[in-house]
Amino acid sequence: MQRLDRAAPSHTTPWQVPGQWYRGALHCHTTESDGQPTPQQTVDWHAANGYGFLAITDHDRVTDPAGLDPKGLCLVPSTELTAAGGELGAAYHLLGINVPPGTTLPSPHTLATESVSFLRSVGATVFIAHPYWSGLTSADLLALWSDDPQDGALGMEIYNGASHLETQKGDSHAAWDETLARGARWWGIATDDTHWGTLDRGLGWVVVRAPTATPAAIATALAQGHFYASSGPELRQIEVLGEEDGALRIHVETSPCAAIYLLAYGDHDSAYNAGAIARGELGATITEATLSVSPPPAPADGNGRTWYVRVQATDWQRRSAWSNPIFAS
Ligand SMILES: [Zn+2]
Ligand SMILES: [Zn+2]
Repeated sequence: MQRLDRAAPSHTTPWQVPGQWYRGALHCHTTESDGQPTPQQTVDWHAANGYGFLAITDHDRVTDPAGLDPKGLCLVPSTELTAAGGELGAAYHLLGINVPPGTTLPSPHTLATESVSFLRSVGATVFIAHPYWSGLTSADLLALWSDDPQDGALGMEIYNGASHLETQKGDSHAAWDETLARGARWWGIATDDTHWGTLDRGLGWVVVRAPTATPAAIATALAQGHFYASSGPELRQIEVLGEEDGALRIHVETSPCAAIYLLAYGDHDSAYNAGAIARGELGATITEATLSVSPPPAPADGNGRTWYVRVQATDWQRRSAWSNPIFAS
């Protein structure tokens, strides 16, 4: 089984990568664990609602999609694996995307670092589920980062719709930004975490740029960050136009939105919180912006920080689309 590599830092965004766009759901539960729909009902709903691929992620097992009618979807065998080791006692939930059916998974009592390495060793892409809902600290998250591109988690859920409905703890952007600033070059996904106990469908998804819709191609594109996450808006183009005096100029096109942001990690003294923002005048809708952002001054303590910028677009319903980070170096 081939381990998947992360992409090396570059200014190329998924919009400049050959391929097609596929909307996908990466976190769904069925009657094979604690969800209400059968696996086939889950496939049927996603096929009827504009998705191109689906990962059924029942707890601590791989629900084999063989035998299901895919209804045109690419079905990616996957799991949500429980693991141990949170510094405040929290359990980790790990999304393993593209896990061969029949794989014997580590027990839920296994340390998360070991479970992540196991999932990567069988060719899966791994994302940390709902960090805020789980009560994971940023140290817990960073423990799963690895400088080895073939090991470690590849990112985290920055938005989990069911966690948001259940406890208002579905939003983990702050943890993503902090861990990015501390050197973890990883990706952000949005998901539903559907169980169908509430209206937990169609709240968060990813749109992946891949050459074809096969489980391996989708998992590779996810590992390389060739996707964006959304709870509503579309990102239609992100292009790095160039670097001028250390500032990056970035052009963004979206579906009709209220605001388009460039965001980086905040530094209180350098007033660096929001890199740049474009808004429609007097509340008008906007669909494109060209924005620039400069890196913050080097910190006086000599501790280098990772400089990155990411795009977020927000519509009038306060739904967002999130690009993956663009690393300046
Ligand atoms: Zn979970
Ligand atoms: Zn779940």
